[in-house]
Amino acid sequence: MSHKIAVPLHIRQLMALMEQAGYECCAVGGCVRDSLLGVTPQDWDLCTSARPEQTIACFAAAGCRTIPTGIRHGTVTVLWDGEPVEVTTYRIDGSYSDSRHPDAVTFTTALEVDLSRRDFTINAMACRADGVVIDLFQGQQDLSLGRIRCVGNPRRRFEEDALRILRALRFASRLDFTLDTDTGLAAIALRDRLREIAPERIWHELTGLLAGKAAGRSLAEYFPVLQVVFPDELTLQGWRKGAGLLQNLSSTVARLAMLLWQGSGLTESSALEELGLRFCRMLRTQRQIKQQLSRLLWQLGQPVPQSMPQLRRLAGVLGTELSLNLAQLWCAVGQKEAGKRLESIVDQGECVCIRQLAVTGKELQQLGFSKGPSLGKMLEWLLELVMEGKLENTKEALLAFAAAQQKKGC
Ligand code: ATP
Ligand code: MG
Repeated sequence: MSHKIAVPLHIRQLMALMEQAGYECCAVGGCVRDSLLGVTPQDWDLCTSARPEQTIACFAAAGCRTIPTGIRHGTVTVLWDGEPVEVTTYRIDGSYSDSRHPDAVTFTTALEVDLSRRDFTINAMACRADGVVIDLFQGQQDLSLGRIRCVGNPRRRFEEDALRILRALRFASRLDFTLDTDTGLAAIALRDRLREIAPERIWHELTGLLAGKAAGRSLAEYFPVLQVVFPDELTLQGWRKGAGLLQNLSSTVARLAMLLWQGSGLTESSALEELGLRFCRMLRTQRQIKQQLSRLLWQLGQPVPQSMPQLRRLAGVLGTELSLNLAQLWCAVGQKEAGKRLESIVDQGECVCIRQLAVTGKELQQLGFSKGPSLGKMLEWLLELVMEGKLENTKEALLAFAAAQQKKGC
């Protein structure tokens, strides 16, 4: 079975230009896979028999700008109709002495050699300008079976580059696929090799895995693999419970918080916060992730407030994004009432911080409050009364209250 896919016009033109210059040029990898799945590809990666300098010369002759982005690895970026397209020379990866980068890259003029170095059969398909798919490893069959299978011997492929283990889980999660038996067994057997991989690369694959539509299932199934990149104290039972609860959580941070919370079984705020910080240090995540994750975990160790004033105060402290994450986490563990309330406080744009008050410091100054602590205190008092539902958040009500206090003070 060989399908044909629709190649966009600008990509076809680019391929034609290289073919006219005497080189082969194909679309390859994710764009072919996604097209066969009926998903619009994010970008079209091309590969060619031309060496990088020949690719550059070919486009220079056509008056196109090129950027030698990854020239050592054979990649040239062509600005085609103002859009960047990566064109990479067919290559063979050398040995991987550090389980990360190939030590050397050798260029080749044979497409099948380039395809055979790729990670999975579903990522190792190419197509020419006419859209006919070149599928040397039964990638289409694996696509229709929903199967992630290594090109060649899975053990050898994971030994060459252990990151592929996590990539397999990421694609399984994103496409709702399962790992082929041998690929799955090799992933478990070689999981410890993940320790040799740069934390940033692990984090990149992990965020993709967490965001996938089948994240819950993939995470639950491959605890033995993921354990290697997570803190030690997580248990299989807790992890499975967490994985089962994360389907309705929309952000990576909320999903992670759920896994660490349930997986560790910890209930105390500072211990949970510390776990989050440790995880982020291990994987060298961005500072924002570290702050959000540890804050959420800390909060999950606290009693769930039920009253509207308490929930408004919390929303004021956490801000919009974290409040919505917390609301989803609460809902997922059965604290629906508090979760829905917190969510509606944010969605309705209720007043939870001084910035949202219907008066400004300037307006209070006009009433006679002098700049400084007394003004700040009045604003805080107004906010508290609004959050308690004792004062309406309108200019008239707030100014009237402040004026009355000012008078009393005189
Ligand atoms: P995405 O839509 O997530 O970008 P993709 O298939 O384009 O999916 P990339 O990580 O961008 O994935 O990699 C592009 C292609 O390069 C893959 O389809 C695969 O053929 C090949 N590839 C990437 N990383 C590896 C690797 N570690 N080992 C072998 N081949 C790889
Ligand atoms: Mg890609």
